[in-house]
Amino acid sequence: YSGYTLLRDPHHNKGLAFSAQERDAHYLRGLLPPAVLSQELQEKKLMHNLRQYKVPLQRYMAMMDLQERNERLFYKLLIDNVEELLPVVYTPTVGEACQKYGSIFRRPQGLYISLKEKGKILEVVKNWPERSIQVIVVTDGERILGLGDLGCQGMGIPVGKLSLYTALGGLRPSACLPVTIDVGTNNEQLLNDEFYIGLKQKRATGQEYAELLQEFMTAVKQNYGEKVLIQFEDFANHNAFELLSKYSSTHLVFNDDIQGTASVVLAGVIAALKLIGGSLADQTFLFLGAGEAGTGIADLIALEMSKQTKLPIEETRKKIWLVDSKGLIVSSRKESLQHFKKPWAHEHEPVKGLLDAVKAIKPTMLMGTSGVGKTFTKEVIEAMASFNEKPVIFALSNPTSQSECTAEEAYTWSEGRAIFASGSPFDPVEYNGKVFLPGQGNNAYIFPGLGLGLIISGAIRVRDEMLLAASEALAAQVTQENFEKGLIYPPFSNIRKISAHIAAKVAAKAYDLGLASRLPRPKDLVSYAESCMYSPVYRSYR
Ligand code: NAP
Ligand code: MN
Repeated sequence: YSGYTLLRDPHHNKGLAFSAQERDAHYLRGLLPPAVLSQELQEKKLMHNLRQYKVPLQRYMAMMDLQERNERLFYKLLIDNVEELLPVVYTPTVGEACQKYGSIFRRPQGLYISLKEKGKILEVVKNWPERSIQVIVVTDGERILGLGDLGCQGMGIPVGKLSLYTALGGLRPSACLPVTIDVGTNNEQLLNDEFYIGLKQKRATGQEYAELLQEFMTAVKQNYGEKVLIQFEDFANHNAFELLSKYSSTHLVFNDDIQGTASVVLAGVIAALKLIGGSLADQTFLFLGAGEAGTGIADLIALEMSKQTKLPIEETRKKIWLVDSKGLIVSSRKESLQHFKKPWAHEHEPVKGLLDAVKAIKPTMLMGTSGVGKTFTKEVIEAMASFNEKPVIFALSNPTSQSECTAEEAYTWSEGRAIFASGSPFDPVEYNGKVFLPGQGNNAYIFPGLGLGLIISGAIRVRDEMLLAASEALAAQVTQENFEKGLIYPPFSNIRKISAHIAAKVAAKAYDLGLASRLPRPKDLVSYAESCMYSPVYRSYR
């Protein structure tokens, strides 16, 4: 191992932080200028440099360069500046990065599995240099954020999600594997782009698609064992629901768009009850949007209600109504509904628009999950405020331009009475001399802690009860002080502590359900979770 190689190995490189002794011991003399900087000083310098870039994509690329150069410094920086850097390494900037992935692509950051690898996926998986993988995030690029089909360029998403697994949840970077499955793309612009990095063909569907995924799922389990967590990310909704139900009984799988969203929103709902009073079962929910997010959230709320009231889930579902692009989902539409909408087709006369649905259903909580912006109009919010003292409004559609309403609109139109949270971040709002802090229902509150909990307990399956446990753990992290400001989510700056608490509750549930394989069960799961977390502080090399 020469000093020169050491400087080019991102797992071990410390740059100017190598001490005099290390420079002597590892043949680094002369390869570095004489100054020795602490990791803190390196961080200070990097943050200063990053803030010089005014274009978000430049910040993203600077972060990716850092990750390729000095992994520990990358994670230390991300952890210590999480609120500022999360939007850089993840949404919204990662979306733009995916759109331009072809031109900013330098080194492969994950594994590409395309139709060309059919029949030899196991060999391909073995090409990855790390042996003990604990989490895989996989996409097929068909529905990247709200940006649609980006084909092979979707790789930015698994890469970004996994860096959050490490930064926020404390998983070791070497245990994380980003995967993009390339079955083609239906994006004409990419198909006509001479620099496109993916397969230039229309998406494979049906049996051809199913067989490739089956081979992948089998290869991964064979190579990494039963306890590898596979997170499906940004699949189009027909495939997302199907893959989740197909593999949830044979693999440790989790879909963040469906289940992670559900868990983070349920946490906000539970916390909101502290502000509005009453129990979950006293609430009536109306959703605009009945896709992955909407039906996923609705399912988990109904389950929690059923758990609290001991009523069968068929009963608690009746408190939840959904509107899709054709209007309120009602029983007379049942024949023509996709299967994931059927449980929500209740007895009611047809209703077309959202405003009429709000007036007919009189929900206490209104949830926006359609991906269409500006749909919570003044009339809709005023109607909510007319029959609720404190209307609860979740405008979850991303990015900001697609938000159902802004924080300011929600507070103004409800005369300062709304409890508001959104998918994309909004700045604090001043209304009638009072400052309101809108909460952000960011999935990054849940999935890192959930993943950590599954891994430290050696869980072999994901169950909805674990998602409920994660929601309750997150809601419990909201302090009185947060509530007083109208917040229903805790500040992100405490995320590692939050993740440890979520992990502990998820692990406890895995043990209770007999799905944990790491025995004996640790006594104090919170401190055990904390002790398992990766630390990016430099190690000294002797
Ligand atoms: P999806 O599976 O495609 O579902 C979209 C749903 O919205 C469908 O049911 C669709 O109706 C309905 N819809 C579309 N246009 C509509 C309109 N004009 N009026 C009424 N309904 C309409 O999408 P998804 O994955 O659930 O994502 C939806 C949104 O949620 C996205 O903006 C995403 O960014 C956001 N999201 C936020 C978070 C978060 O904040 N933590 C997490 C996940 C997703 P049809 O079924 O009739 O086509
Ligand atoms: Mn996603």
